[in-house]
Amino acid sequence: MSVPGAQVEIPAPAPVPASGPAPGLIAVAIAKGPPKVLTYKAKGDRPPVGSRVRIPLGGRWTIGFVVDHPQVLPPEVTTLRTASEALDEVIPLSAEMVALARRVADYYMVPWGQVLAAAVPPAAGGRAVAPRRVRVAELAVPPAVAVARAAELARAPRQAEVLTRLANEGELPAARLPAGALSRLATLGLVRLGTRDERRVPLSGATAEAVAEVTLTASQQAALDAISGSLGGFVPLLLHGVTGSGKTEVYFRAAARVMDAGGQVLVLTPEIALASRLAFLARARFGERVALLHSSLSTGERNDEWRRVADGSAGLVIGTRSAVFAPLPRPGLIVVDEEHDGAYKQEESPRYHARDVALMRGREQGVPVLLGSATPSMESFQAAQGGRYRYLTLPDRVRERTLPTVSVVDLREERPVLPRGSITMPLADALRNTLERGEQAMLLLNRRGYSPLILCPSCGHTWQCPHCRVAFTFHREARALHCHYCDTRQAAPSACGECGDRLLVPVGVGTEGLLEELAELFPEARIGRMDRDTTRTKDAHLKILSEMESGRVDVLVGTQMIAKGHDLPGVTLVGVVCADQGIHVPDFRAAEGVFALLAQVAGRAGRGEKPGRVVLQTYSPEHPAVQHAVMHDYVAFAADELALRGLTGFPPAGRVVRLLLRDRSEKRLDAACAKLVGWLNVRPAGGAQVLGPGPAPMAVLRDEFRAHLLVKGERVGPVRQTVRWLLDRLEEDSLCRNLRVDVDVDPQTLM
Ligand code: ADP
Ligand code: ZN
Repeated sequence: MSVPGAQVEIPAPAPVPASGPAPGLIAVAIAKGPPKVLTYKAKGDRPPVGSRVRIPLGGRWTIGFVVDHPQVLPPEVTTLRTASEALDEVIPLSAEMVALARRVADYYMVPWGQVLAAAVPPAAGGRAVAPRRVRVAELAVPPAVAVARAAELARAPRQAEVLTRLANEGELPAARLPAGALSRLATLGLVRLGTRDERRVPLSGATAEAVAEVTLTASQQAALDAISGSLGGFVPLLLHGVTGSGKTEVYFRAAARVMDAGGQVLVLTPEIALASRLAFLARARFGERVALLHSSLSTGERNDEWRRVADGSAGLVIGTRSAVFAPLPRPGLIVVDEEHDGAYKQEESPRYHARDVALMRGREQGVPVLLGSATPSMESFQAAQGGRYRYLTLPDRVRERTLPTVSVVDLREERPVLPRGSITMPLADALRNTLERGEQAMLLLNRRGYSPLILCPSCGHTWQCPHCRVAFTFHREARALHCHYCDTRQAAPSACGECGDRLLVPVGVGTEGLLEELAELFPEARIGRMDRDTTRTKDAHLKILSEMESGRVDVLVGTQMIAKGHDLPGVTLVGVVCADQGIHVPDFRAAEGVFALLAQVAGRAGRGEKPGRVVLQTYSPEHPAVQHAVMHDYVAFAADELALRGLTGFPPAGRVVRLLLRDRSEKRLDAACAKLVGWLNVRPAGGAQVLGPGPAPMAVLRDEFRAHLLVKGERVGPVRQTVRWLLDRLEEDSLCRNLRVDVDVDPQTLM
């Protein structure tokens, strides 16, 4: 975090008192590097524990968090600098949240301050954001008196109007009333002027229609009863409900119970689109008591929502990953929706998993944690099978709706209809039938852009990102080449740079290309697209979904974004353009991810009155992830997959910590890896196994060379010891000083 005015004078260290209690001390956790907690003297009053403060460190100002008020100076401290005042207007984190951050930091082997920094909303330019103040006017007399006076003010119609409005509408922003009349009324003692914090409320324009009360199904009722019975203490529960089984209804009913009893509820979703949608539905039921927290809110909105959570006025808090740290003073229930989703893992330091932090929080704060999914993670499912989590199940869709039938198209036998296309005849037929019946379809293609590669057919030249050494994706609309790893963009070439040929060929297909193919096959169909490129602007995803809802779009093409959570009753066909995408990557979770994606996207079909069907195009129809998805058989998939993990020792059968080593110099990285190999040769791993070091699957990213190493073992203790030992070696070794080392505890991906 950079601090404006960092050049300003750093206070000189004060002499350290010889002995006895030292007044005004604060212990501050810093985001980076050892030592991780430093002692400072507070300037003026000691800011409370949990406050964000500015501190001098290494000749610069940086930001830290007060974590303690020590009574005596730690013996190792020889100089003592003064921390600046606390950053104004931040509600300090509660001592409980500071303690939770400590646990999380220990668990993920990262600095305490780094977790604290991730836990609070961003400050604008290093400062917290103050609430916006607005001037307001209100009556200084009872409304009846005001109305009577208004009648007497016939010669001052504006003053009369202001009085009447204030009598009818209560307090109003001064800016909306005539200034002259206001000040006159204030002098007469009829009106009071003041200021108030204005809250920037996200989605305030959104009003979902009030929902009709539904009668819970027997399994929904059983789940709700189990949740209600768990309130008041830490109980982990897994709600395994097939797609369309009404999990949201269960969350909302449970939330209502908690709020009725005066508690607060935290609901996490893996994506912003899902959080917004859920908040939208929740608003219709719970009104202003709903708060929404995610990273694409404006800094002001985010800080305001944070305050509404902290002061207890929000009862139901909905948010994405970092909302797991939301400062609910009276948490009564934590829900993690789509708990299997990899987006809960933060892929930069601190690399925490919000589901697992939710479980830590529930345990520390005595709150039940409800994990919901149609395709639970292997970790959660195994825990439920072993009786460590309570297992609640919703085996059927609501309203006696059935899961869609799934048919497989073997791409080794079926050719696409169009040359260089990707839609085969069976899928095209299904689309045609759907359109003829006036129904809607969704097509999943988990790759955005026009084509993942362009190629010069004369000389074979391809275009690569110079920073990542992977092929540029071609974006036709933007006429650009785009690196999907580091975001580098450049203008698309009009001719080959090597041989000058002007006929460049796109190879493979992304969502943008698929749109074009569909337009050619079905010129009359109205086609929409949902991927990261079409949802960059605020609320764009809600717009796209509402176009589907209102029937203005017939076919929605999209990446995994379309697979999650949405409830679009008009969709009767789901097509998967290539089901084996991602199946062969070197990652122990690859099959799990593919199964979940297929089950989730299939779950979008047939949620309304008409039954649904799914057409799955694949090169590997025999792959277990595909086969079990066809049968909607999560339990059989999980049994196979867990058996495999048992054999390979990957989670949940064992524990893994990944060390990612990065350096701008390939030579230095190679040398560091050679050292690691040497150290590992002399030290028996003692209960842990070390795989690597070797090049990471993305061996170059953003101009950095990357190697990785996995420490794996049955028990977590030896794994952590080995990691600690390696980190200490790396820290001591002068050659490895420039090396960046990311610790990834429980990695979600090995890429
Ligand atoms: P899931 O999250 O399990 O996929 P949703 O919560 O989206 O399912 O529910 C699917 C649809 O069923 C929603 O439109 C919801 O309003 C409706 N629904 C939920 N419970 C019931 C019920 N008991 N009876 C009728 N409709 C219900
Ligand atoms: Zn790149």
